[in-house]
Amino acid sequence: MKDEYDAVVVGAGIGGVICGAYLASGGLDTLVIEKADRVGGRMKLDKTSPGFTGFEHWVTFGQGWGGGAWYKAARELDADVSFYEIPEPCLYYRGTGKGFEIAPRCSSASSLLSYYESLFPTPLPEATRQEFIRALNYAGSIPYEELFCEPLANIPFYDWKDKLSTDPVVVGFFASIAANSTMCESDEAMKHLSAGGLLSIFRFWWMTEAHCVAFKPDYVEGLVRPFATAMERDGGELALGCEVVEVIVEDGESRGVRVRDEGGVVREVGAQKVIVNGSFLDIPKMFQEVPPEVQVSVDSFRSVAFHDFTVYAEMKHPITEEPHPVSVVDPETGSNLLMIWALSNAFSWYAPPGKQLIFASRVLPIDEEERKKVRKTLKVEMDEIIEEVFPGYGAAVEKKHYSSHYPLWHYQHTWYPKIPYRSKSVKNLFFVGDCVEPQYSVTVDAAASTGVFCGKAILRLEGREV
Ligand SMILES: Cc1cc2nc3c(=O)[nH]c(=O)nc-3n(C[C@H](O)[C@H](O)[C@H](O)COP(=O)(O)OP(=O)(O)OC[C@H]3O[C@@H](n4cnc5c(N)ncnc54)[C@H](O)[C@@H]3O)c2cc1C
Repeated sequence: MKDEYDAVVVGAGIGGVICGAYLASGGLDTLVIEKADRVGGRMKLDKTSPGFTGFEHWVTFGQGWGGGAWYKAARELDADVSFYEIPEPCLYYRGTGKGFEIAPRCSSASSLLSYYESLFPTPLPEATRQEFIRALNYAGSIPYEELFCEPLANIPFYDWKDKLSTDPVVVGFFASIAANSTMCESDEAMKHLSAGGLLSIFRFWWMTEAHCVAFKPDYVEGLVRPFATAMERDGGELALGCEVVEVIVEDGESRGVRVRDEGGVVREVGAQKVIVNGSFLDIPKMFQEVPPEVQVSVDSFRSVAFHDFTVYAEMKHPITEEPHPVSVVDPETGSNLLMIWALSNAFSWYAPPGKQLIFASRVLPIDEEERKKVRKTLKVEMDEIIEEVFPGYGAAVEKKHYSSHYPLWHYQHTWYPKIPYRSKSVKNLFFVGDCVEPQYSVTVDAAASTGVFCGKAILRLEGREV
């Protein structure tokens, strides 16, 4: 680590690493500092038994619009990223006894309507069918960039829903799709998701406008590491196991960072530009005085956070050949009850030969009282649901692991403010990652898109070739 760089990136999550790779490719002397001893940030392996690979902090799929920010970045930066397509989702209405219905790849309004109708015993009234076609066509016609900016990105879906349709069946369908894509309840989805967030999830997951993929052998080695390697190839430096204890701000301008190196020594590293890639919870710890535009977003984030509750079940032998993720729906409310994957069917490397890995997850609001209530019955309910969907589950389970994660990605799709990529109050200070705007995609790809956007913006500011 030298004393001075053109650019210092704090954090080697996907956003930080991609940003660093762009800066290095444009010729800036770049350092990426990461407090952990590995790149990848929130993508981590949840533990399962030997031979079962578990998977990365349950990041199950990488997504990307029109190929994806990570996909285009990999091509532009010549990073060695490779991926595997995953199957479409399907819905199962609990207790109806009907099989799963797989979402259509052709996502015209008519194909979506016939999919929706196939889930119910009685046909929809003609007026509602016509309204569905109109609303689905409208939802699909909005240019996708508009989903991620004002006004759609900043208005609750609940307040916007009448623009989509005034037919409650049609609105209910969208709320249900949002709930089942984010694994929560319909009213939670309507309350917190922005109109653009909800439509982006809908168009990604149900109109199949984005890639949904898995990286081999895992997210870190298959996706993040190749960008770090590309950055180093282009002259950038990666310092693992070093924690930034402070972003130095003097006279309204960022001047560098104070970093605790591998040996525990705190030293100053100067930089023309500082780019911070931490989570909402990490970022405030790095500032003596948190910039006001950052504080606003952090406070909003805290008001909408969710936890997931996840079970990884290891099977003595396969109980199903189903490769599609199954979203189990409450027929009364349209809410999600559980998302279940026979994960090793889609990605064989997740379980040893002859065995199977099943993963099932549900997202809960963070309210403590609510969580306590739900937790008492949730494990039992999850087992019952999985048994209903995949009979023979209980008898074949060898081992189960439970975990819960926080924070989840849902806030990316909320209407609450995110941190602006370029600080309004501190000169030469930038942000990347999934808590930052603008972001032009969903989940991990949205974080990647901030790295691309910010990296290119800085190169332009510096008069470098992009
Ligand atoms: C439980 C869960 C499940 C998810 N599932 C999916 C999924 O299935 N599909 C999907 O596409 N996305 C999923 N996501 C979202 C995806 O994982 C994130 O959007 C993405 O990984 C965030 O990347 P990021 O660039 O914002 O940085 P982060 O991953 O947050 O990385 C920030 C980095 O900064 C480092 N850092 C922080 N403070 C300091 C400091 N002071 N000094 C040095 N380094 C520091 C951290 O150690 C970390 O490595 C999931 C997220 C969670 C939490």
